[in-house]
Amino acid sequence: MSSERITTVVIGAGHAGLTASKFLTERSIDHVVLERGEPANSWRHERWDSLRLLTPNWQSRLPGFDYDGPDPDGYMTSADVVELITRFAVHVRAPIRTNTNVTSLRRADEGYRVTTSDGEIEARTVVIASGACNRQAMPDFASGLPAEIEQLTAFGYRNPAQLPDGGVLVVGASATGVQLAAELRQSGRPVILSVGEHVRLPRTYCGRDVLWWMDASGVWDQRYDEVDDLTRARRLPSPQLVGTPDRTTLDLNALAAMGVELVGRLAAVRDGRALFSGGLRNVCSLADLKLERLLGVFDEWARTEGRKPAAAAPERFAPTEVPRSARLQLDLRGGEIRAIVWATGFAPDYRWLDVPVVDAKGHLRHDGGAVDSPGLYALGLPVLRRRKSTFIHGIEDDAREVIDHLAGFLAVRR
Ligand SMILES: Cc1cc2nc3c(=O)[nH]c(=O)nc-3n(C[C@H](O)[C@H](O)[C@H](O)COP(=O)(O)OP(=O)(O)OC[C@H]3O[C@@H](n4cnc5c(N)ncnc54)[C@H](O)[C@@H]3O)c2cc1C
Repeated sequence: MSSERITTVVIGAGHAGLTASKFLTERSIDHVVLERGEPANSWRHERWDSLRLLTPNWQSRLPGFDYDGPDPDGYMTSADVVELITRFAVHVRAPIRTNTNVTSLRRADEGYRVTTSDGEIEARTVVIASGACNRQAMPDFASGLPAEIEQLTAFGYRNPAQLPDGGVLVVGASATGVQLAAELRQSGRPVILSVGEHVRLPRTYCGRDVLWWMDASGVWDQRYDEVDDLTRARRLPSPQLVGTPDRTTLDLNALAAMGVELVGRLAAVRDGRALFSGGLRNVCSLADLKLERLLGVFDEWARTEGRKPAAAAPERFAPTEVPRSARLQLDLRGGEIRAIVWATGFAPDYRWLDVPVVDAKGHLRHDGGAVDSPGLYALGLPVLRRRKSTFIHGIEDDAREVIDHLAGFLAVRR
């Protein structure tokens, strides 16, 4: 087992850790990137087969590394993202140690002791870039389901052929849930979709990708210290979007038209019955209202910037059609459904982190990426410094500022 001293250890070689490495190199800060698998590991092993990015290709930019392929308005597959990130790692000459799992991080006299599957490292500063989506967030009652129901999470799901024939309950109607519900329905299965709080977005608005509007109007650039309710903003689910060549909108109306049955949030499982909230209409109205407000922001931006939208008048979308009497329970033993797919959101995994900086809900305590322990930093978390923080194109600004802070910390210590 080796033991060595390095100024900065970066944990994780996803796009966040590699971008940190780029800025550390630019500042001549000696460092190493520790990766338990290979670069872009989560895109290699933790995504379903049909997944495409919901962000368009032109937006998949990393610092000094813009998309230069033939289809700027298309959406990458996971394999394309692996290629992008692998090329970026080579481009920035990141000093990566692959197959090196960090099993513990604790405070030491002059900073931190990092224990890995390959020895110990003493580091003055550490950047945690291990990802925000390492495991499925699951409700407690998931463990109380009848044994005959097959359960899969978005991590374990690859394609419809994995599931037994018959009906499926998909729990969660954000990006993952709507995509999996559509795919399962298209495979010929009856699908029930349990819908909680969600963010509704059309794929295109006034002739342009809706994410172009988010980018151009500055909505995605809003800083964490300008957001009214930061805790809430950090917990917002991902928008109901899918990246398909024909730029389909995949909202609840589209799913209902495909034959997906909508029910309220799964609130409990009791005596073999799934109990759904009666608040479906409310969550849908709220999502419709928020969509209206967001389109209003786009319209206002277009007006003040003197941008002429492609359409003559601002586009508006039909309200979500909520079933008149959505069912409130489902007998899980009755054979109507054979499987449940949990699309209930992702969470980070800090079981290896032995510094007391994780709150009761499992989130890191940090201020714009400066973690609540001197010399410890984080990247790639929701609304870390901006609304776009967890997206590929969001990392450049965050990483530059976080590494600036880290360099300032080292300069003072020196
Ligand atoms: C289903 C899904 C779809 C998404 N779609 C989009 C999209 O369309 N557009 C977009 O811009 N973003 C998207 N994102 C968000 C974001 O781009 C990804 O989550 C991205 O993978 C985050 O990059 P990262 O570098 O922060 O973390 P990750 O890519 O997760 O990288 C973290 C790395 O750390 C390693 N690691 C973790 N723990 C340890 C440890 N203890 N020791 C050593 N190594 C460790 C992991 O192996 C991994 O390689 C999506 C996310 C998910 C989950």
